[in-house]
Amino acid sequence: MRFIQSTLLLACWLPVSSFAFLASGIPTRALDATQLQMSLQTKKPGTAKLDVPWGELGFEFRPTNSHVRVTYKEGEGWGKPEMVKEPYIQLHIGATALHYGQACFEGLKAFCHEDGTVNIFRPDENAKRMQASCDRIRMAKMPTDLFIDAVKAVVNDNIEYVPPYGSGGALYIRPILFGSGPRIGLQPADEYTFVCLVIPVGDYYKGGLASPVKGLLITDFDRAAPRGVGAAKVAGNYAADLLPNMLSKKQGFPIGLYLDAKTQTKIEEFSTSNFVGIKHATNSYVTPKSPSVLPSITNKALMQLAEEEGMKVEQRDIDIEELDEFDEVLAVGTAVVVTPVGSITRLDGDDIKQYKFGEGEIGPVTRKLYDKVRAIQNGEVEDKYGWNVKL
Ligand SMILES: *Cc1c(COP(=O)(O)O)cnc(C)c1O
Repeated sequence: MRFIQSTLLLACWLPVSSFAFLASGIPTRALDATQLQMSLQTKKPGTAKLDVPWGELGFEFRPTNSHVRVTYKEGEGWGKPEMVKEPYIQLHIGATALHYGQACFEGLKAFCHEDGTVNIFRPDENAKRMQASCDRIRMAKMPTDLFIDAVKAVVNDNIEYVPPYGSGGALYIRPILFGSGPRIGLQPADEYTFVCLVIPVGDYYKGGLASPVKGLLITDFDRAAPRGVGAAKVAGNYAADLLPNMLSKKQGFPIGLYLDAKTQTKIEEFSTSNFVGIKHATNSYVTPKSPSVLPSITNKALMQLAEEEGMKVEQRDIDIEELDEFDEVLAVGTAVVVTPVGSITRLDGDDIKQYKFGEGEIGPVTRKLYDKVRAIQNGEVEDKYGWNVKL
């Protein structure tokens, strides 16, 4: 069952009346790849009416025009991307995502350049990582081209929500893929749904770069086991983090740092971002190497930029004791970008140990790396590595 749209122009010009309707009454528009290519935006970035100024966006859910949806059925493969106006899904009560957590997600961003073009940062990397997550939990993998087409389509349909150049914001892109077919015995579903929504965002942690966040070493819980699913961006990892995350926040620490599950001696990563430590004396960039750390695309980009700066990049085990030796600590990821961590506290009953980094402000290396990656994302310097994908 596919939905007919006579011409693409109709789809562009008549955003509401041209929606075909699913049996459920949910409006959809089906686009094929050429239509996606052709559907050049008629609207401009930064023209949507929001409840706050563009420069004051945080990291919260906000409604936009539409999301994109693609369905996979065993024997048929992947269908065509469809634009859906209503933010609801009609889901089978037997869906494996609901029962067994067969679901994964991604996170990437689109930025408006000074010339008004919209560029998506490294979507091919997110496509690949989503495929790796799908492999791990036995879901149908979405081909890279289809992933990128779908992402472009949804950004295009919500172009006015891309924060304008200079606002510091971005359009956060959130693809999810989950088992939507019913099963009751434990086995993979025969139907998968890919959905991608977009949200205009600003800083993840209040104050952004200006105020280093306080971190807490999480000693009562583990995020991921060495041979578990920590390296896959699967939904269940984040449910497991909700309680420790809430407990850290309640004690006054916005960010929690996990240790390795096996020995409790090595640094793994923060709840939703990778750990990076900087040493001035040796000009080194140190980040954990572990089978249960999520391979961050931001970290990968920063390692390349750090190397370009002549830094020594080390991906290896980091013992907790080594926290004493770092001059700067960063939390890195798409949502947080590069966030300075001012301190990490370890609470062992009455025994409190605090590792401090910097003097309550962003360190010089953190600043340098942040500026470098943001300049590429904003189109202000040459994109040497071809990281920006233009809409
Ligand atoms: C998504 C995520 C990151 C950051 O990855 P990016 O590709 O840089 O956005 C880091 N750690 C965890 C646990 C994550 O889920």
